[in-house]
Formats: sequence, structure tokens, C-alpha cells
Amino acid sequence: MKRLIIIALPIILLSCITHGLKDEKKVIAIQTLNGFPTNLTDTIQKAVEDFYQFKTVVYDDIKIPKDFYVTIKSPRYRADSIIHYLKRIKPDSINHVIGLTKVDISVTKYGNDGKIKSPEYKYKDWGIFGLGFRPGASCVVSNYRLKHANQQKYIDRLKKVTLHELGHNLGLPHCPNKDCFMRDAAETIKTIDAVELNLCSNCFNKIQ
Ligand SMILES: [Zn+2]
Ligand SMILES: [Zn+2]
Repeated sequence: MKRLIIIALPIILLSCITHGLKDEKKVIAIQTLNGFPTNLTDTIQKAVEDFYQFKTVVYDDIKIPKDFYVTIKSPRYRADSIIHYLKRIKPDSINHVIGLTKVDISVTKYGNDGKIKSPEYKYKDWGIFGLGFRPGASCVVSNYRLKHANQQKYIDRLKKVTLHELGHNLGLPHCPNKDCFMRDAAETIKTIDAVELNLCSNCFNKIQ
């Protein structure tokens, strides 16, 4: 009997630990960069909490380091530098950081051969909606290319792009399902408008 108790105790303890970890909610920080409208920050915060069931905190606005600024095609900040920076300054208590900014952001697009996609003048500094590590600690979203006269359409775009980039942070790749918000935008805002504000069951099951 004594032996059974000795064996059973570590099993009980282990199950308490794993159960506790599973129930612990992830904490997502929202970091605005060079300004972002407060009402939209609140809207995105709520969308992240409601959709993924995560806890969120909103940090005070910070300035994007000047080194990330380029004027190759137009005045922009490099999105890849921003996500590396957000990852570097992230406190250990935070699982993922979402950067929100009103400035235009860009990356260099590469082809499958590892070279800059052709034509190079177009793709060496390509304006984007958002960028996130997969999986990883940080992502960034810009409202610069998402604006629309219809406020609801504009807000839905912001929500879809933010939940998409955070989805990458959680490990989700692009999805072939045409309704799923993890679908590749494929260089057009039309894709963002076409997808639903939802994950397909395949993507959803991957993050459970
Ligand atoms: Zn993506
Ligand atoms: Zn999907």
C-alpha cells in the first residue's frame, strides 16, 4: 500500500502541473508605434481577447528606431526590423507582442530561388499590411493600406490582418481555404475583404 502511494503521488503532482499550464491564458501585449488611434487599439484588443481567449495589455506608444526608416520607393519603415525589435524588448511575462502603427511598413520579397523577386525595383521594398514570425514572439500591423470609406469594412480589415499575423505567431501557416483568414493575401486587399473573420476548422484545430 505504501508503495502504491509513493508511485501515485508523483503522477498526481504531474497531472496538476500540466493541467494548470493548459488552463493558463497567454498574455498578449499591444504596442503602438509612432501613434495609432486609441479607439482602434481598443477594438483590436477586444478582438484578440474574444477570438483567441487571451489576456491582453496595452503599452504606451513608443517611437520606431530611426534606422528602420527607408525612402527606397516612398517613406516607410522596415517591418522585419520592427518585429525583431519588438521581440528583443518583450518582457518574459508576455507571450506575444502585436505592434500597431499608422506608418507605412515594408519588406523585401524573395522568390523560391532565394533572390529578390522580379522586378527587383518593385519588390526590394514592398509595402505590406502586416508581418509576423511563424511561430514567434511578435508581429506588426499597419493601417496605412487598410483604410476604406466604409468604417465597418476598414475595422474588419484591421481585425482580419491582426488575427492573421497573430495566427502566424501561434504557428499557423497560410491556408488554402478561401474563406479562412489565414489565407495568403497574395498582394491584394481584395483577399482580405473576401475572407471571413474566422479560422477554418483545420487551422482552428491546429492551435487547440
Ligand atoms: Zn501571412
Ligand atoms: Zn484555415
